[in-house]
Amino acid sequence: MTVSDDSVHPWDRPDEYDLDCLQVLTTPEQILTGLPLGLATLEALCDTCGTSMGEGADVFVYAYRAAEAPRWSLAGCYCEACAPPGIRNPTLGTTEVLVGAQLAVVSLPWERRHSLCVSTPTRRSFSPPTRGSAP
Ligand SMILES: [Zn+2]
Repeated sequence: MTVSDDSVHPWDRPDEYDLDCLQVLTTPEQILTGLPLGLATLEALCDTCGTSMGEGADVFVYAYRAAEAPRWSLAGCYCEACAPPGIRNPTLGTTEVLVGAQLAVVSLPWERRHSLCVSTPTRRSFSPPTRGSAP
């Protein structure tokens, strides 16, 4: 039996994917899902009041990405009481998003540890790079 070309699937050749294109098509919610928040303690602290939040807690996460940056940066994590109502000072050239989410403990078997991650994020506020004042 010979192996025909049909057995070679696209996922065997990841080089053919246009990674830049994929980044554009990905929503902030998808990017933020699974974003690690807590340290080894499996706790996340509210940036404003310092309340400790564990698995299942409702959190608000603020993240941004500059136009030329390949990754999103986590800029804030807040408890429900301290959650900002929106993006107060949008910055031109930066995509900013505020999401409500739950904390989930995700197992990282290859690292033999657990991590506290963002789960089921819902967009609360969004600022495209075309809006805001110059940084
Ligand atoms: Zn708080």
